[in-house]
Amino acid sequence: MRTLVAACALTLLGSAAAAAQPGRPLLVTVDDLPVAAGALHTEAADRDRITDGLLAALAKHRVRAVGFVIWSRVSTPGDRAILERWLAAGHELGNHTATHPDLSKTEAPAYIADVEAGRAGLAAFLAAHGGTLRFFRYPYLREGDTAAKLDAVRQALASSGQRPLPVTIDTQDWSFEKPWVEASAAVDADALARIGDDYQRALRTEVLAQTRLGDELGGRQVPEVLLLHANAVGAAQWDALFTWLESRGFRFASADEVMADPAVNQVPDYVDRFGGSLWHRIAHQRESEQVRAAVTNLLQAQAAAWNRGDLEAFCAVYADDAVFLTPSGLTRGRQAVLDRYRKRYPTREAMGDLSLEPMEVRDVWGPEVTVLGGAVPSHIHGVSVVARWTLSRADGTRASGLTLLVFHRTPGGWLIVQDASM
Ligand SMILES: [Zn+2]
Repeated sequence: MRTLVAACALTLLGSAAAAAQPGRPLLVTVDDLPVAAGALHTEAADRDRITDGLLAALAKHRVRAVGFVIWSRVSTPGDRAILERWLAAGHELGNHTATHPDLSKTEAPAYIADVEAGRAGLAAFLAAHGGTLRFFRYPYLREGDTAAKLDAVRQALASSGQRPLPVTIDTQDWSFEKPWVEASAAVDADALARIGDDYQRALRTEVLAQTRLGDELGGRQVPEVLLLHANAVGAAQWDALFTWLESRGFRFASADEVMADPAVNQVPDYVDRFGGSLWHRIAHQRESEQVRAAVTNLLQAQAAAWNRGDLEAFCAVYADDAVFLTPSGLTRGRQAVLDRYRKRYPTREAMGDLSLEPMEVRDVWGPEVTVLGGAVPSHIHGVSVVARWTLSRADGTRASGLTLLVFHRTPGGWLIVQDASM
């Protein structure tokens, strides 16, 4: 009996340890296979050397990566051999389209055709090697600059069995490739050392910043998906990068483990012509929801102030220099707006009961460019709201119309800077 209990306890311990290995799971993904920045690497021997370096660093740190293939760049037997080496080393290959189009500059049907050409080519290649295609990576991480494109491409991916693999840490590692190749060609050891140092510092900074954002959003330590590119600077720098990641408590994990986590599984409806990491998309969507709630609450508070006859409170949400337009003219400044209301609605009876019903809310924001050229969404600094106002008076009469309100974020909260009511 005693032995049995001990054996059970050991089994439980064993499974608990397997379920919760120490370290933060990190999936390494590698874009633009067979070799990124292909125009800089046209010689087969050069492409093979880069592949040697990348696969050696991955093997040394026992990383199981997902590589994303641009199918039109698989043009020679040597390129096919490079993909075969990735598969033989235990890595998975996913679709990165046929020609790497930018969805923000391409209509959905043409983009979907390019995705399909990439899928068909790679799927046939994988089938010949006993594999299947599961994942897709959007070129430039751009998922749609309109809601219609976003939906159309997502639907096409789902119906062709391709799962978009998000990026949570977007490092702009590609931006080091050209200087690295130039310094290599010039056999400039000092420049190479400097660029290598910059590469490590830049990537570490991004890893730390984006990991912190992910944890803040998730309220816990969340897994990460790192984006790297299959390039020469990576071949030289990944060993040191992976060693540093291990020292920071990261554990290289499989796509299946990382993609099973609900944090990484979120699919925010983020519409923008620039891409960016999953955490930035989620942070932006949350901010948008918070801003909408704040503005809607303000409108409700304004209606409540009106309905208790408190015009002062009703006008408190106008900025000092707010502009108020009606068919009868233009009023400038909060005090003038308040005076106008007092004159037009001298009694509680004249005011009636107000309701304000938001019909459309648009956020005002834009991309912020990072030092390395990445684009992340800025904070939302303005909101425009189309709303319907309705005044019901005790005598049974009713008036209704539309208003367009422009809110700005100020240190004191959201304020109306322009109001066009009709
Ligand atoms: Zn790419």
